[in-house]
Amino acid sequence: MILAAALATMVIGHSVDGRQIRATRVGAEVAPVNVLIVGNVHGNEPAGEAIVARLRKAEPPDGVALWLVRTANPDGRAVGSRHNARGVDLNRNFPSRWRSGPRDVFYPGPKAASEPETRAVMRLVRDVRPQLGIYYHQMLGMTVRARGVDRGVQAEYARRTGLPLGWLPNYRGTAIGWQNRVIRDGNAFVVELHAGAAPAKRHADAVLALSRRLKNPFAVRLRPAWLYGPSGR
Ligand SMILES: [Zn+2]
Repeated sequence: MILAAALATMVIGHSVDGRQIRATRVGAEVAPVNVLIVGNVHGNEPAGEAIVARLRKAEPPDGVALWLVRTANPDGRAVGSRHNARGVDLNRNFPSRWRSGPRDVFYPGPKAASEPETRAVMRLVRDVRPQLGIYYHQMLGMTVRARGVDRGVQAEYARRTGLPLGWLPNYRGTAIGWQNRVIRDGNAFVVELHAGAAPAKRHADAVLALSRRLKNPFAVRLRPAWLYGPSGR
């Protein structure tokens, strides 16, 4: 294969304060299997970024493209806040079972998908249609069961990383809740890392193992032109 290890970074949107939200594709432009990895959505939960950094240097299996978003909340990351710059909990802002709520730690925003960070992730998901999506959070130390997701996929992630499977309440307006509704054949779930640094190699290896598991050579899909080739940095 001549087209190995293509790598391109594109701007998928801008935060409230105008920071770029970027996605890096590792692997071929058109691949049967697309995998989305989001390092964090809450800016005070940064451990997933080391896993993303590791995957940037990975060689994905043939037929797999990794789509890496280091942070979906660059404003929150800049100040170490869970929220975006408008005080919104982005993981309650997605248009799936969204409901209004008080301006507290879980403030879901004035309406569903009101925040540019939410819409940037939505655009990427709609265009890439990932069969696997992992969103890292902290610090409960578990692989969070997701409704409608292949149990074997999640069990393998739990086994490989040592973060046991478990349920959390069925929160409203979450990224994975929305993604699993839109991508019917996809598997999006949350991994709650422990506090502190994560064992990045172990998690990156688990992502690559699941990518191999999901490989289906008959599922090639076309994407819009703007996702091809590098733009920005
Ligand atoms: Zn979180």
